[in-house]
Amino acid sequence: MAKSFDVVVIGAGPAGYVAAIRCAQLGLKTACIDNWVDGEGKPSLGGTCLNVGCIPSKALLESSERYHQIKSGLAEHGILTTGVKLDLAAMQARKTRIVGALTQGIAGLFKTNRITALTGKGQLLETGRVGFTPRGTEQQEVITAQHIILAPGSRPVSLGAAPLDGDLVVDSSGALAFADVPKRLGIIGAGVIGLELGSVWRRLGSEVVLLEAQQEFLSMADDDLAAQALKIFAQQGLDIRLGCRVTGVKTARRQVQVAYQDAENQTQELKVDRLVVAVGRRPNTDGLAVAGARLQLDEKGYVDIDEHCRTNLPNVYAIGDVVRGPMLAHKGSEEGVAVAERIAGQPGHVDYDLIPSVLYTHPEMAWVGRSESALKAAGVDYRVGSFPFAASGRALAVGESQGLVKILADTRSDRILGVHILGPGASELIAEAVVAMSFGASSEDLARTVHAHPTLAEAVHEAALAVDKRAIHMRNR
Ligand code: FAD
Ligand code: NAD
Repeated sequence: MAKSFDVVVIGAGPAGYVAAIRCAQLGLKTACIDNWVDGEGKPSLGGTCLNVGCIPSKALLESSERYHQIKSGLAEHGILTTGVKLDLAAMQARKTRIVGALTQGIAGLFKTNRITALTGKGQLLETGRVGFTPRGTEQQEVITAQHIILAPGSRPVSLGAAPLDGDLVVDSSGALAFADVPKRLGIIGAGVIGLELGSVWRRLGSEVVLLEAQQEFLSMADDDLAAQALKIFAQQGLDIRLGCRVTGVKTARRQVQVAYQDAENQTQELKVDRLVVAVGRRPNTDGLAVAGARLQLDEKGYVDIDEHCRTNLPNVYAIGDVVRGPMLAHKGSEEGVAVAERIAGQPGHVDYDLIPSVLYTHPEMAWVGRSESALKAAGVDYRVGSFPFAASGRALAVGESQGLVKILADTRSDRILGVHILGPGASELIAEAVVAMSFGASSEDLARTVHAHPTLAEAVHEAALAVDKRAIHMRNR
């Protein structure tokens, strides 16, 4: 007899595993099918994020920043270092241990919550039925489910002009696993992955060139912050070339030759030791559903859903990178929670206007809500308050005074419409802005909130004061 569950989730990334845990917490008999295995062929829950995404990249960002600081950033503090050496194998081993601890942690959480973890491929057959092909077999079992949640995630977009060879030309997973520091590293795409992984290898000693197709740098971020970030990254030695179109890639004698058209339409050639292709990700929908299921995709190939993550099929939901919206772990997780709660008859909800974005460079960049150009384009009347970290006592004491906090508030209601931070701890500071905006705060609400001194968060406070031209620690314009 077919196995039967209240909910079957396909995919155990941050969307799927969180959905499964929340379903189980709500008393639903839940199974989660996932096909990710580690280098030793063992199941490794957590999807892209835990295995080759958020977590390993942040482990390497942290290690590489410490190395860079100790090697060349401490003299200002009166600390002189010599003989600092890099043990890349140990750095990579630390990353692997962190990934292992977290992926095993998910397996533990599944056990605690009595979720049935199934290793292998899942496929939507039709409403109420899921095909499960256990890893290492060809035999598909049929599982019945009252509700099905599709969370198969995404994979890197490939570029015809730059096919991967898994050695010299790699995607982000390859770039997280280099066993030596490339002398010259090329990256196609100066987006989030290009900048984060470019920073890692630059700090460890690579000369890094990023070839970006768009003329505009970080078009999704606020223009002022993007412009400042571009200058800072250039000072750090990231050679970011905008408006470039890669036309061909050749490898010979362990060198990669990249041919491209630059912003002036001139043909250029770049020689590097390794090349990373980081030009976005696309949804994993191939073979996700049998044709007879008639699962509807949108024009870009994402599973088509409504505002509650419902697909065109009854009791079939889709969440995470496989559906519209930013490809971010926390966005997928929130959708997972909301869908689980809806299945359990509760009013699950995701506020898509308040999903924070973070770029884990140095300094970090983080934002939530709308940018100035978006407000201008929408004809919204707004006021701006900004405060530079150069005027923050804590930032100076820490030795991290680049960047600023910028708050945008509605002119009439004073409601905060967007908060943009470039600077130390931006990834943590943005949480205050998200909370404030979730409660519909005005800039005055933030301005009247006591912030401890001396903290980096005072820059958020001062930016809120600056909206009304009453910042204390700078001249108000
Ligand atoms: P995934 O994490 O991709 O998980 C999907 C899972 O489903 C995978 O295990 C996959 O193998 C499995 N699967 C797919 N199809 C099937 C099938 N048919 N049957 C069984 N299993 C299947 N986001 C952030 O928010 N912060 C970050 O700092 C961040 N850093 C990143 C760094 C890198 C280098 C990369 C590549 C991504 C990063 N992301 C980050 C993005 C983040 O990883 C994704 O948004 C997130 O993992 C999406 O979650 P998901 O659950 O939708 O899909
Ligand atoms: P991205 O969309 O951030 O950046 C891709 C960049 O490549 C863009 O700037 C794009 O203009 C450029 N590009 C596209 N085609 C090109 C071409 N042919 N030649 C040169 N440039 C080209 O995508 P990504 O950096 O690959 O990251 C994928 C996803 O992973 C993102 O959606 C992001 O949300 C997520 N991610 C998030 C984080 C984080 O939250 N900190 C970190 C890494 C990845």
